[in-house]
Amino acid sequence: MKSDLASLEGIAKKVELLINIDDLLEKRGLISLDQKKVVERERKSSGKTIEKLCVEFGFITETAINQIIEEHLGYEIFYPEKYLIDQSLLNKFPRALAERFYVIPLSFSYNTMVVAMVDPFDLRALDCLKEHFPKIGHYKKCIAEESVLMAAIDRYYGYPWTLEKILESLEKNLKGNNETNVEEPSINNFLNIVLVDAVKRRASDIHLSPEKNLIQVRYRIDGILQSLCCFHAVHWSRIVARLKIMSGLDIVETRRFQAGSFHCFIKGREVYFRLATHPTQYGENIVIRVLDRYYGVKSLSDLGLEEKQLKILLNLIQKPQGMIVFCGPTGCGKTTTLFSLVEELKGTHKNIFTLEDPIEYRISKIHQTSIQKKLGMSMAEGIKSILRQDPDVILIGEIRDEETAQMAFRASMTGHLVLTTLHAQNGLGVIHRLMDLGIKSSLFPSNLLAVVSQRLVRLLCLRCKQKRKGSRDLDYYWAEGCEECSYLGSQGRKALADIIILDQEFEEAFLSDSPLSLLRNILKLKKYNSFQEHAQKLIQNGMVGAEEVKRIFGLEDLHVDLLFGDR
Ligand SMILES: [Zn+2]
Repeated sequence: MKSDLASLEGIAKKVELLINIDDLLEKRGLISLDQKKVVERERKSSGKTIEKLCVEFGFITETAINQIIEEHLGYEIFYPEKYLIDQSLLNKFPRALAERFYVIPLSFSYNTMVVAMVDPFDLRALDCLKEHFPKIGHYKKCIAEESVLMAAIDRYYGYPWTLEKILESLEKNLKGNNETNVEEPSINNFLNIVLVDAVKRRASDIHLSPEKNLIQVRYRIDGILQSLCCFHAVHWSRIVARLKIMSGLDIVETRRFQAGSFHCFIKGREVYFRLATHPTQYGENIVIRVLDRYYGVKSLSDLGLEEKQLKILLNLIQKPQGMIVFCGPTGCGKTTTLFSLVEELKGTHKNIFTLEDPIEYRISKIHQTSIQKKLGMSMAEGIKSILRQDPDVILIGEIRDEETAQMAFRASMTGHLVLTTLHAQNGLGVIHRLMDLGIKSSLFPSNLLAVVSQRLVRLLCLRCKQKRKGSRDLDYYWAEGCEECSYLGSQGRKALADIIILDQEFEEAFLSDSPLSLLRNILKLKKYNSFQEHAQKLIQNGMVGAEEVKRIFGLEDLHVDLLFGDR
């Protein structure tokens, strides 16, 4: 924070001639006339800048001031702690040039380069970058105070950037001093490399797991854990301390669970990380959830659902009242689908509220609330409170207890559309679970609109997949793995959904004494189990491997073997 304020102050001094910040703040109603007078008086006696005083007095947050300055200048302000660098760019742009032109290339994706520079109008600096990166089409410029930029050059260029070398330098620094220096550059660089790499490879989680003498670093990519590297356990305490500081956790506390979060700018966008510690016999285990909006919140059409199913879902969310439940195992993408639907509803003059535990992605124009158990606020109470806010649509992160189930149903029966998730394998499981939670099955008709079960299947790598002949002359596809797919044989995932619309045909079952068995019969008659159908189609046209379908669905659900014989 200190370095942020220092850099902000430096830049503010430089732009003082351009913006009269106190007038601006007052004009926008961000500070009152009285507050402005207080600040002006204080400035004369203390010599501090207006914006620093406004933050100190608590009139306005630092973020808000930054936004104003950024809006006025048209550029963002560069904070070395928050902008993580894509280290591969440093190899292509020598340190001498960075120092000569006061510029650092931070990241480069598609044809846009994010750069930190002291003078955003310095054409020679931009020309020089263009010479080294001919594919640059646009720049996103972050302006930096000279001393901040020079320190950043020192940090970025002065230390090795391969994992191997960083681990080596961790070793050296350890020998040099016995103190826990958490601001040490090799620790920062190690975390920079791990975080940037995780975002680049679209990992959903980063696992840092202590074992007897070493720490394993792994990524979860497309649902599968993959090893990145390991290092000796002596470095662990310093890395844990650094991560805890970044996430606002207590660094002394090592025996209790802790959870926190932090955000960084990576590849030109803001990425959130949610961190949780868990004490084990060898030290604290740390898992970091990567919340990259770029991949986390997708438009409906990017989920990979069938055209027909998309239409059904879009129709369902237009209903004025009722409940739609999404289910599937952990990591099946049900929450992503839920939020894509909310994105779709956003533009429709509807008042949308969410209750989450905790908020994962911030979405503009909807009202999101994190459940604060510490403050004694429960999911059910949250729903009760939202009902007093005149909502049209309520998104409930997950129904876990009786009280929440009851409240959610009450909301869906009183003129609101309720979207939620439940931990169950399939549609029948959802009905079963809701009845377990004390919902009478006679309430289901006309209130429970639909149940959507979802799975994510990994797609075969386009570069290395090959056609093979199976038994009975049926072709199938197989991917051995190549550099492109990190030797996994798969790249990217696609959502498969099974949507059960609970229309009048189900009413009889719900009103009977044994709803579940009747329901099972109706589903059988109507040939519900579209998973099987979809999966077989995907195997046949070579998008998904048969092994993957077996992994996701197990053998009872799908007769993959019937398709290929006993290969
Ligand atoms: Zn491949």
